[in-house]
Amino acid sequence: MSVDNTHRFLQLAAPGIAGLAPYEPGKPAADLEREYGIRNAVKLASNENPAGPSPAVRAALADAAAGIERYPDGAAFALRDVLAAHLRIQPQQLTLGNGSNDILVLLAETFLTPGHAAVYDQYSFVVYRLAVQACGAEARIAASRPVDDEQPLGHDLDAMQALVDEQVRLVFIANPNNPTGTWLEQPALKKFIAGLPSDVIVVLDEAYLEYARQPDDHDTLDWLNEFDNLVIVRTFSKAYALAGLRIGYSISSPAVAGLLNRVRQPFNVNSLAQTAAIAALGDQSWIADGVAQNIVERARLESELGALGLTIVPSRGNFILVDFSSAERAATVNEFLLRRGVIVRPVANYGLPQYLRMTVGTPAENVRLLTELQSFADGS
Ligand SMILES: *Cc1c(COP(=O)(O)O)cnc(C)c1O
Repeated sequence: MSVDNTHRFLQLAAPGIAGLAPYEPGKPAADLEREYGIRNAVKLASNENPAGPSPAVRAALADAAAGIERYPDGAAFALRDVLAAHLRIQPQQLTLGNGSNDILVLLAETFLTPGHAAVYDQYSFVVYRLAVQACGAEARIAASRPVDDEQPLGHDLDAMQALVDEQVRLVFIANPNNPTGTWLEQPALKKFIAGLPSDVIVVLDEAYLEYARQPDDHDTLDWLNEFDNLVIVRTFSKAYALAGLRIGYSISSPAVAGLLNRVRQPFNVNSLAQTAAIAALGDQSWIADGVAQNIVERARLESELGALGLTIVPSRGNFILVDFSSAERAATVNEFLLRRGVIVRPVANYGLPQYLRMTVGTPAENVRLLTELQSFADGS
């Protein structure tokens, strides 16, 4: 292979693919330990649940490992039944995915062509951009709210609405949003959905729902009775602590689910993921305890970061976006933390180079993060 074929194959790629930049995941702790020759690195970079799954999940997985020579149940019959009962919806409203990332891509593949467009917010989850671009469709990017807004960097629903015309097939909304942690109030969100043409699909990504619930919130699943163009996307990767197994899902009208189920791979959710998800759903007190602790720690981190003189974006996710005033300073702090074995997430690829995103960890992990930030401030 002496000839560089990159250019030739770039020209052969389907529309949209050449301009794609690969997704940049959070750095795994093992990589950092190897590169820097350190131990006990702490990863606060990918919004995982630091408590991990319940003992019931670990036990179920050990049993399920005995059957991995068989294909999984392609219809995920048992999981769909358990999940539908848990959510109080019909099984035919569900589409299961290899992570909710899979669902986001399926939605784009199902509804977008190079002649269509999708709307999303400037600082929203990067997978929307990747999924839209891979289909060769047009991305219509709505400016986020300004930093001095009551929801700094949050979705601006009016700006999104203004981008909708007859070419638009999908509107992506993350509530709460990643990487900002910002949220939308339910009445405003519902009014926005009601104001869209009924042939525009609203993708409501609720990856962090469990961390965001307010006492007087409605269950957004009830809105499906009013809006058959609404698709709610949820995941087992965050509060349910199954990120490594890759499982997420959408709840929609049976008609939309029927289309997504035509497009998905026959065995897109593996057997260990199906088993683990059933076990995780069966241990709700574990989930509730983990979420409750995370919310307490989030409040503590927010105030301690403030005490360090840092400006944060108020968050309803299991992470906090922290402002370091300049791209240089954010990069310096990131490098300092890496050397001390603490991995946070740079978000320059989101267009937010002066910020770092920090996942709320266990109490001990958060102490470690705060201690290292204090040492940085002290100049040590
Ligand atoms: C983490 C995350 C997801 C979930 O991704 P999975 O593929 O389910 O692991 C979806 N949406 C947002 C906004 C996220 O931050």
